[in-house]
Amino acid sequence: MQSQNVVAIADENMIASNGGDKAETTFGEQRFKVFTAKQLGQIPQLNRLSEQQRFDMKVVASVLPFRVNEYVINELIDWNNIPEDPIFQLTFPQKEMLAPELYDKVATVFSLNDKSALNDTIREVREALNPHPAGQMEHNIPTLDNETVQGVQHKYRETVLFFPSSGQVCHSYCTFCFRWAQFVGDKDLRIAAKESGQLQDYLRAHPEVTDVLITGGDPLVMKTKNLRAYLEPLLSPEFNHVRTIRIGSKALTFWPQRFVTDEDAADLLRLFEEVQAAGKHLALMAHYNHWRELEPEIAREAVRRVRNTGAQIRAQGPLLANINDDAEVWARLWQTQVEMGIIPYYMFVERDTGARHYFEVPLVKAWEIYQDAMQRVSGIARTARGPSMSAHPGKVEIQGVTEINGEKVFVLRMIQGRNPDWVQKPFFARYDEQATWLNHLQPAFGEEHFFFEET
Ligand SMILES: *Cc1c(COP(=O)(O)O)cnc(C)c1O
Ligand code: SF4
Repeated sequence: MQSQNVVAIADENMIASNGGDKAETTFGEQRFKVFTAKQLGQIPQLNRLSEQQRFDMKVVASVLPFRVNEYVINELIDWNNIPEDPIFQLTFPQKEMLAPELYDKVATVFSLNDKSALNDTIREVREALNPHPAGQMEHNIPTLDNETVQGVQHKYRETVLFFPSSGQVCHSYCTFCFRWAQFVGDKDLRIAAKESGQLQDYLRAHPEVTDVLITGGDPLVMKTKNLRAYLEPLLSPEFNHVRTIRIGSKALTFWPQRFVTDEDAADLLRLFEEVQAAGKHLALMAHYNHWRELEPEIAREAVRRVRNTGAQIRAQGPLLANINDDAEVWARLWQTQVEMGIIPYYMFVERDTGARHYFEVPLVKAWEIYQDAMQRVSGIARTARGPSMSAHPGKVEIQGVTEINGEKVFVLRMIQGRNPDWVQKPFFARYDEQATWLNHLQPAFGEEHFFFEET
């Protein structure tokens, strides 16, 4: 399939993977080895599953991105606890991730051995999965001198997102990823940058931007020298308005070797130091879903090394059915993060795309889990905001459920807004037990529109 080609090219060009600096570490050499949909049959642990289960997996992996590396398979998944194991759910496709009618559609064609029919069906099913939630494609791509700036999204005044073209894969893929459409091989769907020059031009023209968030995929699949080509220019005085550089990554979970044993690990840490030395803040926005990701010794060592550079690690991740819809899991995740010097930052609501029906949690339940988890930890661990929906108007936080003048309502606020004036204004929606996203909510008190919908 198309997607496999993309992944294969990506591997060659990007992943620095061979070898370790033995003088510097007690961790042995570790080679990055990844399995994609085509290689599902080569994962020995899957032999425990029935033939039907393996077939189901292949069917789902033909639609949603699948990519998992040996470290995740050997160190993070508890194979005595499948399919319930949270990291197994996080990385391996499950039949129920496709709605029954979509699953049947693909499964039927799958057995026919007709490649073009299969590709057509896959395309059709992907289209049915809302590949671009929150108007990502149409609304957030900026222009400069009347030309669109590729690889840049500018939604909130102070923060620019940058998608380097060579950072659009990850060391493994999450089954729930809202960026899944970028990975499945359709060039038109990929939001990617050709070069850092355009980013610099854009930032020069936008002195209001204080934060650049390098994201993906996972920008840390890039070799350090490539990442450096994007970051170093931003350290010059003409970009003094850029105060914080954030890197969004799940490498601390999926490939902590990136910071410890990869041949350019030391250089990566040096780059982090250089950003700090230039007077800017470097924040590693680490994606975590479960405290188990923090347990392997090499994952802990990676965190120590990043922190030693002066960079800060902030943690964020979505609340997901079948993975972490449990207050105890979140409390332990936040508490462990605090002990390791990681700052809890966001709890997200799973977005309305891909396999969302499998992972979604009603907003009221999300809030209950958040509240319950908060109550189990001290103030130091209560820095994660949420549950937060990254919707078209902005990041909307569910603050709670209450009753006003006899009407049961959700209390909401915007943490980030397309219009900065909207931020931190409380607003209210009618209580709805089933709602899982902002577009399911109606304004409370008989009003016709939410305040940000008024034109
Ligand atoms: C979350 C987010 C940001 C960063 O917002 P902060 O509140 O500064 O963390 C920027 N752009 C987009 C599109 C986002 O979703
Ligand atoms: S690490 Fe992030 S971008 Fe990569 S698959 Fe997971 S959620 Fe998506």
